[in-house]
Amino acid sequence: MNAIEAARWYFNQAADLMGLSANMRKLLLTPEREVKVQIGMEMDNGDIGTFIGYRVQHDSARGPMKGGLRYHPEVDADEVVTLAQLMTWKTAVVNIPYGGAKGGIAVDPKSLSRGELEKITRGFIDAIHDMIGPDKDIPAPDMGTNAQVMAWALNQYEKFHGFSPACITGKPLELHGSEGREEATGRGVVIVTEAVLKKLNRPLAGCSVALQGYGNVGSFAAKFLDEAGAKVVGITDVAGGVWNPAGIDVEALSRWTEKHKGLAGFAGADPLTNDQLLRSDVDILIPAALGGVLTEEVAKEVKARIIIEAANNPTKPAADELLHRREVVIVPDILANAGGVTVSYFEWVQNRQHFRWDLARVRKELDRVMVDSFDRVWQIAQEKHVSLRTAAYILGIGRVGRATVLGGI
Ligand code: GLU
Repeated sequence: MNAIEAARWYFNQAADLMGLSANMRKLLLTPEREVKVQIGMEMDNGDIGTFIGYRVQHDSARGPMKGGLRYHPEVDADEVVTLAQLMTWKTAVVNIPYGGAKGGIAVDPKSLSRGELEKITRGFIDAIHDMIGPDKDIPAPDMGTNAQVMAWALNQYEKFHGFSPACITGKPLELHGSEGREEATGRGVVIVTEAVLKKLNRPLAGCSVALQGYGNVGSFAAKFLDEAGAKVVGITDVAGGVWNPAGIDVEALSRWTEKHKGLAGFAGADPLTNDQLLRSDVDILIPAALGGVLTEEVAKEVKARIIIEAANNPTKPAADELLHRREVVIVPDILANAGGVTVSYFEWVQNRQHFRWDLARVRKELDRVMVDSFDRVWQIAQEKHVSLRTAAYILGIGRVGRATVLGGI
């Protein structure tokens, strides 16, 4: 099952329980607009580079469409459609006034110089600037992009449309960004981890955690887990990682990776592969990297009793069913990693009001949104005797469906 079929499978599981008609399913699943563009540019060495960029606007029933820009060699039309759809349910689960979108370029950003990265970003915005905007579609960072890329994107957009900081979120603080946006997804992951443990009558302090991915989400999740007293025992990135059953010194690891641009060689921990990490003997497993890593084969050997999906789409449906049968509690992506888009919303609100919030306010509001959303999803799961994933889809699809019908089809 590929990613698009997997997303449809999860959707249908909820839609079946909701008694949604075939016509309504088709309407909700079909993206409003899919755009594929060419980005042609001169590379530093004088060669001509031709890249393909995508923007998919999945659904606008609840508001302007919202979603990140991913720069990764595996970006393709199917992946972007899938991720755009996930954004529609995600914004609905946390009840922020947006629809869902996603975009990206099929490129390895690490293969580009800084100048080329700027050029490709400006070229992409040249191609899509007419379809985005503060009231239409608001891009943000995703895998392979960051605040600097957002700064270039905004600057290019404003060349056509004038001052409009609310068009892009995840911007640098110096350019209308928000306090707490960079840490938001990782922080949200830890808020829902604490929330699920509370329901299970367990404190986070002392729990062992394995974390796959040490990018923006994984690194902030590790930091906040450590601060909350959890024992982070395993962390990996694309090249492998580190393992210490006594608990990794997260602060020292952060200093190490900054200096050495990777986890490898960190003293005070043993080497660990991604495969070993997913199967490691821990209380909590947090996939915070690419999608599709939890296959049926891996799921059979997962020892963690709780999985928090910090990545988008990390669990294949067959693995999901198996883990559900084994009573492993999974907090699904559309809830667990919604902290990022939630603080993007706060950034957009601040930009529109020309008023800045301090970090304490951003954190307090994020906490409220994540805990309320988690409680709502938990309640649906209890009432309907379904997994947290199906409950989150029921909540998200229900809100989008009702907005669609109320607005008039
Ligand atoms: N890329 C992030 C996500 O998948 C954030 C999107 C946003 O802030 O709009 O949720």
